[in-house]
Amino acid sequence: MTLTAFGPDFPFAYDDWLRHPAGLGSLPPERHGSSIAIIGAGAAGIVAAYELMRLGLRPILYEAGRFGGRLRSEVFEGTTDVIAELGGMRFPASSAAFFHYLDRLGLETVPFPNPLTEAAGSTVIDLEGETHFARTADDLPPLYREVADAYAAALEEGADFAALRRAVIDRDPARIKDIWDPLVRMWDERTFYDFVTASASFRGLGFRHREVFGQVGFGTGGWDSDFPNSMLEILRVNLLGLDDDQRLVIGGVQQMPKGLWHDAPACAHWPEGTTLAALNGGATRGRVAALDREPEGQIRVTDRWGRRDRYDAVVVTCQSHLLTTSIRTEERLFDQKLWMALDRTRYMQAAKTFVMVDRPFWKDPDPVTGRPLMSMTLTDRLTRGTYLFDNGPDRPSVICLSYAWMTDALKVLPHSAEKRVDLALQALGAIYPGVDIASHIKGEPICISWEADENFLGAFKGALPGHYRYNHRMYGHFMQGNMPPEQRGIFLAGDGISWTPAWVEGAVQTALNAVWGVMTHLGGQSAPGNPGPGDIYPERGPVALT
Ligand SMILES: Cc1cc2nc3c(=O)[nH]c(=O)nc-3n(C[C@H](O)[C@H](O)[C@H](O)COP(=O)(O)OP(=O)(O)OC[C@H]3O[C@@H](n4cnc5c(N)ncnc54)[C@H](O)[C@@H]3O)c2cc1C
Repeated sequence: MTLTAFGPDFPFAYDDWLRHPAGLGSLPPERHGSSIAIIGAGAAGIVAAYELMRLGLRPILYEAGRFGGRLRSEVFEGTTDVIAELGGMRFPASSAAFFHYLDRLGLETVPFPNPLTEAAGSTVIDLEGETHFARTADDLPPLYREVADAYAAALEEGADFAALRRAVIDRDPARIKDIWDPLVRMWDERTFYDFVTASASFRGLGFRHREVFGQVGFGTGGWDSDFPNSMLEILRVNLLGLDDDQRLVIGGVQQMPKGLWHDAPACAHWPEGTTLAALNGGATRGRVAALDREPEGQIRVTDRWGRRDRYDAVVVTCQSHLLTTSIRTEERLFDQKLWMALDRTRYMQAAKTFVMVDRPFWKDPDPVTGRPLMSMTLTDRLTRGTYLFDNGPDRPSVICLSYAWMTDALKVLPHSAEKRVDLALQALGAIYPGVDIASHIKGEPICISWEADENFLGAFKGALPGHYRYNHRMYGHFMQGNMPPEQRGIFLAGDGISWTPAWVEGAVQTALNAVWGVMTHLGGQSAPGNPGPGDIYPERGPVALT
């Protein structure tokens, strides 16, 4: 068995559910063709819409900004295939439900050029003005190995890691819960930094080791921006291999939502060849401005042009704080405890700065050292992470000059794209003094600050200590059997609802929960022999903290 994102909070095999020959379930025939509103055409919205269409419903998509949401592959002007991945860009192989859709669409992936991987070729780590060149972790000074070993030991000591990982790989729900549920109680209210400093392995080392860990971390690099987060967030990343074995989608990840929009799977009720695009008349509707409960019980969706439509069910996939800032949402649609969770959910900031260059010049050998002119670079300077995307010899290639989070992202927030590039080149100039990166740049830079866009107001959730209860309320909201009638029929999905924010797999899994929720809300049921997430939830759902 291989490692997949199975649990740990709710160990349910979404990939098996999707692949089962019996399908996901069925609806009473009189429900076929009913319209369901889906707010947001990102990964969660499109996946929910696609599966609801397969069940014989008519999903109507509303999108306030760009189709694909945080799966945004921006093509450099004047080219057709030179791409900057502005949102999700590296997809761990353990994202089994997400890869189900990539496979369905025939999208191919290659290893992502992460630090110290073969795909990167070489890596430069520059901390406190000291620069190390490495092809693998073994080329780094012993301190780096000590840091990596200390974190591995801390995971073992604080989270019974090897046994828990084994249980996830074996897809053994009982064993996972035996180990994970006590960890929830132990670590929900403690930070990642606390976990590191409290561990025996790091206590034996000095501050410098903790500092280097913050800058270089594990897997893809610097994790210090997550130091204030609840340790549970980080444990899930480690446990599910989310920072390991990551893949880049050839041609851009936005092909996934676009592909599902035009794909024609076999569907109940609908004729062969039916697509989401066709059911939506070729285009999504615009921004949802209001959500209300009709006196007759249906949910009224008003778009920003004043058009009102009534639905028996609505799936909301936008970031949860937009239910307060962007959509006038009737308060009684949610319980006050859920409102607390939706509004307290904390989103992190992220900024990326890309340039297109004439060719992968960084591979040229340095005349003095013989090493490549530039390498994938991790640094404590402003840029933090610099990634190199080789599109082939003598072809325009791409440099992500900077990918940064939190304070490092805020440092560039008010600045223009050109200023961001200047700042990044200044930082990289100190690491590579003889390399004239600017002379290779073509066209205009492409930059993003997700927190500056009113349709997001942040990049992705980053749960703080004590937020487990909020996650629990939002994630479990698709189980509506015991809710008062005025709260039923509206379903939450997406990155902010999931247990693994910042990873598209979580967005997809929550979309599938919402699909089950809508199906049963409309009187449908799971296919015989293929129980869905809501059928299993009562016995295996996430542990509740009192
Ligand atoms: C910088 C960054 C890096 C990331 N890196 C990775 C990675 O490497 N690997 C990985 O697996 N994941 C990564 N992710 C996470 C991944 O991109 C997300 O989990 C996923 O794309 C979220 O999909 P979603 O459908 O939940 O939300 P979204 O994609 O945000 O979709 C919600 C949609 O709702 C729309 N909307 C907002 N308000 C309204 C309204 N009023 N009416 C109608 N529509 C509205 C928005 O415009 C948006 O399109 C990254 C995300 C970011 C931002």
